[in-house]
Amino acid sequence: MKEDCLFCKIISGKIPSYKVYEDDAVFAFLDIYPASEGHTLVAPKKHFTKFTDMNAENVASLFEVARKITAAVENASLAEGANIGINDGEIAGQEVPHVHVHVIPRRKGDGGRGIKSIVWTEPDTTNLEAVAKKIRRAL
Ligand code: 5GP
Ligand code: ZN
Repeated sequence: MKEDCLFCKIISGKIPSYKVYEDDAVFAFLDIYPASEGHTLVAPKKHFTKFTDMNAENVASLFEVARKITAAVENASLAEGANIGINDGEIAGQEVPHVHVHVIPRRKGDGGRGIKSIVWTEPDTTNLEAVAKKIRRAL
């Protein structure tokens, strides 16, 4: 628990939320300013600022709950599909510095687009092998 963290306060119950799921490691609750009906945030109970601060076990439990919530919003007829993602870092739009996965239910005719509508910088694609090499070397 990080004292000055909004989501740590929500997870500990100090600040109320519309909880939809909780287990030992993960807490899921409705986004207070939803992009669509059923928009849910899935967060690890332990405070991590960035996705890359988490280990494989933390990530596995987080994404298993994201999968469950996605199935639930579809089963509850709130969605026919979903966008599932993390804003990782301020530059990527992260406003609350406690890792969370957005599960955004999508319905036919909702006017939304796919994940590439987040950013489209038209990067050079003439040497994708060089780009792949850079990433492989950094692994
Ligand atoms: P981020 O931009 O960090 O990926 O997403 C933060 C999300 O938290 C936003 O979608 C925002 O609507 C939501 N949010 C901000 N404050 C609160 C709050 O007090 N309670 C809940 N449930 N959601 C919040
Ligand atoms: Zn926190």
